[in-house]
Amino acid sequence: MADVVVLGSANMDLVATTARLPGRGETIAGEQFRQVPGGKGANQAIAAARAGGTVRFAGAVGDDDLGRRILAALAAAGVDTTAVVRTDVPTGTAHITVAAGGDNTIVVVPGANGTLTELLPAHAAAIDAADTLLLQLELPLPVVRAAAHHAHARGVRTVLTPAPARPLPDDLLAAVDLLVPNEHEAALIAGVDDPYQAAQVLAKRCDVLLTLGERGALYATADTEPVAVPAFPVTAVDTTAAGDTFVGVLAAALAAGAAMPEAMRRASAAAALSVQQPGASDSAPTAARIDAFLG
Ligand code: ADP
Repeated sequence: MADVVVLGSANMDLVATTARLPGRGETIAGEQFRQVPGGKGANQAIAAARAGGTVRFAGAVGDDDLGRRILAALAAAGVDTTAVVRTDVPTGTAHITVAAGGDNTIVVVPGANGTLTELLPAHAAAIDAADTLLLQLELPLPVVRAAAHHAHARGVRTVLTPAPARPLPDDLLAAVDLLVPNEHEAALIAGVDDPYQAAQVLAKRCDVLLTLGERGALYATADTEPVAVPAFPVTAVDTTAAGDTFVGVLAAALAAGAAMPEAMRRASAAAALSVQQPGASDSAPTAARIDAFLG
């Protein structure tokens, strides 16, 4: 039995670094090429498992080399991959060009992720066996909705990262226990730019933990005014996937029985550790590192 199940995307990030971004119709020479397992679903699963959670990933990859390598990366982090579906459609890919100075372009081809348009029996069974379900918006909306309703009906705690940002149907939010948007996602969903006000607006629909990068987070419920959750002061070198590490570790802590303040502290510590290293899911810290950091 897994404490945390993640129903979400798995992509291979295909990253080329260049001196500058090419112009329209232009071909330029790149400098380096890396392949890194990614997708918000896989990133959250890896972060939760590295932090000590018992984690199962429910998603889809193609019957191809990229899919096998993503499954191997999940397994190496300790994630159970038995609920992953193999499809005839190729594994999802993110084609990323990063120029010196950080400008980038990204094309995501959903591939196998896009075939998940309804809740499959294997994925429903994985949710039934879990304490906490993590969802994001990189799979088709109908399956996210179906999974949230399925979990809600069975009392499985559901945490939604609303990324990429889009307006959310009321019935989806009604089935979610905790919404974890970043500042931009919160502004789009709430319709107000100020994070404190956005947290207040969203908290009327479900509990919200609004992340604000190096400024920490705001936690709000229907009965409480937003409470500040401080970030740890560190020197960030790469904030890619900070939010995914934060949510994965939060879920692992909640599923292990931690109260919300303690889970938020562990999540903040893990994210602070991850931003001090280059990389995405590969920079998520282990439970031992989080414990050492918190002293
Ligand atoms: P996302 O990656 O989804 O945009 P955020 O940037 O809001 O999410 O970061 C999520 C959490 O990670 C923050 O609430 C904070 O705890 C932590 N974090 C992010 N950036 C930093 C930073 N520069 N220093 C310390 N903690 C950070």
